[in-house]
Order: sequence, then structure tokens, then C-alpha cells
Amino acid sequence: MSKNEIPFEGFHGKVALITGGASGIGRASALLFAQSGAEVAVVDVDEAGGATVVQEIKDEGGKACFIAGDVTQAAECRWAVEETVKAFGNLHILVNSAGIVHRGTILETSEKEWDRTLAVNLKGIFLACKYAIPEMIQGGGGAIVNISSGWGLAGGRQAAAYCASKGGVVLLTKAMALDHAHQNIRVNCVCPGDTDTPMLRTEARQLGFSVEKFLAGAADRPMGRLGTPEEIAQSVLFLASEAASYITGAVLVVDGGGLAGTG
Ligand code: NAD
Repeated sequence: MSKNEIPFEGFHGKVALITGGASGIGRASALLFAQSGAEVAVVDVDEAGGATVVQEIKDEGGKACFIAGDVTQAAECRWAVEETVKAFGNLHILVNSAGIVHRGTILETSEKEWDRTLAVNLKGIFLACKYAIPEMIQGGGGAIVNISSGWGLAGGRQAAAYCASKGGVVLLTKAMALDHAHQNIRVNCVCPGDTDTPMLRTEARQLGFSVEKFLAGAADRPMGRLGTPEEIAQSVLFLASEAASYITGAVLVVDGGGLAGTG
């Protein structure tokens, strides 16, 4: 992206921690925040992927560090926040993009799969916020953007645990927005529709579908195509920016019209 195309350049001096930053929407967000002037901490279980994203940012002249961490582990979330502050001196923005998908009905979902899906997609946000918010309060405020899903607002077949986790993210976002508004911390979430990342391919495999057929089905929506991780990242950047200074507790659907109606 050329400099002229960057919508918000007001991130100089801002520090952003991005969970799930090694791939997909988190990776695109990490790159976009860095291009917009932020210092970026990429947190992920995927060490090779995370290191690659950090190198991409550095190659473009940006500032970034990788912190290996599993968002389901309290100690690792605390460590990630501490390391971010150690590296960049502050923490203003938290993007919770780490997530996994599990496709199956309740009958097709083991207790272990249920627990893991809820642990990564929902508890992981609780833990990252738990350690990030005190730093934001100390710094005078901040912005949190959680990645939910269209399936946090409407149900999907054979996605019971995933839908439960993403519905939880929507109301966790609103509850946190109420609790932390007086501390100048805004909390919003983005609900992407099907977006062209490795996660979609994982879903196809879990359902036993051919990837090509699955992607074509996912593109069957008013705009006739999948979203790109870069398009989702733009909405994340907007919600974290000063342009969204009066927005908190909001749910931004970014899905090519997928949830617009039934007609
Ligand atoms: P992705 O698989 O490309 O990226 C997810 C990242 O999260 C990976 O780098 C993975 O290593 C990391 N991760 C997984 N478990 C983790 C853990 N315990 N701790 C730390 N990191 C962990 O997928 P994506 O499509 O970019 O997904 C990003 C977010 O967007 C997810 O929350 C997902 O549910 C949501 N989402 C995706 C789509 C889509 O169609 N791709 C649609 C709606 C919502």
C-alpha cells in the first residue's frame, strides 16, 4: 500500500498489541497499524509465522516485536503485556484476533473441542484484556478491538461451539465498553464475514469439503466474493483510531452484505 492510500496516519507514538498477529486478519492488522505509524507487538503461538510478520514490518521501516504466547494461559498473557511495555514503553491498543474454528453440531463436538474453542476465542480475550487494561489506565486510556464473527450475531449450521464463543465476544465487548468508558478506554468489535485466510481452509477440511467448492460457497453473498484480511484490518484500524473517538460498545459487521437481509 502506498503512503497516499493510508487512511489514518495518526498512530505515531501509539503501541498496539495484536494477538493472532502471525496470520490472516491479525497479520493484516499488524502490517496496517505499523504502516500507520504504530509500534506493534505480535503475539501468537505460531513462532515462525510471527517472526515472519515482524520481519515484514521491519523491512517496510516499521517497528515491531514478536512475543510467543498462548492466549488461553494467564501467565502468557501477562508476560505478553509486560514484554510489550518493556519493548515500547506503553500500551494503547489491543486487537484480539487469535482464534480457532471448530465445525460440528453439539453431537459432533467433544467436550475437549468445546473447551478449547471457548478457551481460545472467548477466555483468551478475557485474559488479554485483564492484563492490558491496567496498562491502558495507567497511560490515560486506550482502545480494544475484538474480532468476533458474523456467527456471533447469527447462528451457523455445524458451528455450535464457534457460534457460542463468538456470541460471547459480542456481549463481552459491550460489557467491557460500559465498565471502562470512564477510564477513557473504548471497546468495540468487528464481525467479519467469510474472509480469505487459512481459517477458511481449515473449515473446509473439518467438514470434508473440497477447498475450492467451500470457498465458492462462502463467496455466495450480495457482493459475490470473500473479504480480504486487509479489508477487515481497515475496519479494525478505524475503530482503534481517533476517527472513532465517540464509538464504544459497537459491533461493526464487515461481510459484503452477508447479514444484510434474506431477500
Ligand atoms: P488465522 O487462522 O489465519 O489466524 C488466527 C491466528 O490465531 C493464527 O496465527 C493462530 O496461530 C493464532 N492462534 C490460534 N490459537 C492461539 C492461541 N491459543 N494463542 C495465540 N494465538 C493463537 O485465522 P483468521 O481468519 O485470521 O482469524 C482471525 C480472527 O477472525 C479469529 O478470531 C476468527 O474467528 C475471526 N474470523 C475469521 C473469519 C474468516 O472467515 N477468516 C470470519 C469471521 C471471524
